Amino acid sequence: MIEVKNKEQLDRMRSAGRIVAEVLEIMKEMVKPGVSTEELDKAAEEHIRSYGAVPAFKGYNGFPATLCTSINEEVVHGIPSLRALKNGDIISIDCGALYHGYYGDSAITLPVGDISEDNKRLLTVCDESLKLGIAQAWKGNRLFDISYAIQSYVERNGMSVVRDYVGHGIGTKMHEEPQLPNFGKPGRGPRLEVGMALAIEPMVNLGGYNVETLKDEWTVVTKDRRASAHFEHTIAITENGPEILTRT
Ligand code: MG
Ligand code: MG
Repeated sequence: MIEVKNKEQLDRMRSAGRIVAEVLEIMKEMVKPGVSTEELDKAAEEHIRSYGAVPAFKGYNGFPATLCTSINEEVVHGIPSLRALKNGDIISIDCGALYHGYYGDSAITLPVGDISEDNKRLLTVCDESLKLGIAQAWKGNRLFDISYAIQSYVERNGMSVVRDYVGHGIGTKMHEEPQLPNFGKPGRGPRLEVGMALAIEPMVNLGGYNVETLKDEWTVVTKDRRASAHFEHTIAITENGPEILTRT
């Protein structure tokens, strides 16, 4: 069952979402050549805890950090470390926070210094696919209208969407029903209703969609080791269409 949130619950989700959005704004300032992903993680955790909120990923299934930091061919779930960012890298930063009982979840992919034309296009296409997906989150539409909007745009641009990881409902749990794939046929899936909250999160690869997990048992990489990007927002479906909850 897909939970429908009332106004008060959505207010709480807005507060959690704002904290996550602020963290990602801080990341935009911090990401540059020479910075380690551990430094990013520390700043993110400090900001979340300054509100009395809790980093949502830390300890989730044993994940050791506040952020997932995934560089270049890494798709999701990269673990922050002493690794310093290099000019030309792209880094996806995924952040979740729990505040007053509700979760916010959002991700961006940022360029480090000057990046290749291919990587620029990858970031643009992934970000745009998220916007197109969100634009389908109206009451009365079907869940996979979102999926289809993302997949068709990405594939029209010669890239692929990851199959093995998907978006999700979100609320008092970070991962609620439904699962929201970034691929699918329009006009299918549950009908969207006012009060549903979804984390929409396209993961887009320059090459093929196949992925595998490294020996650290967390870091997911593309099988062909070509670059991957990830953008995510937590949104709510309102009478007036989609509202992005993870924004400042
Ligand atoms: Mg996320
Ligand atoms: Mg998510």
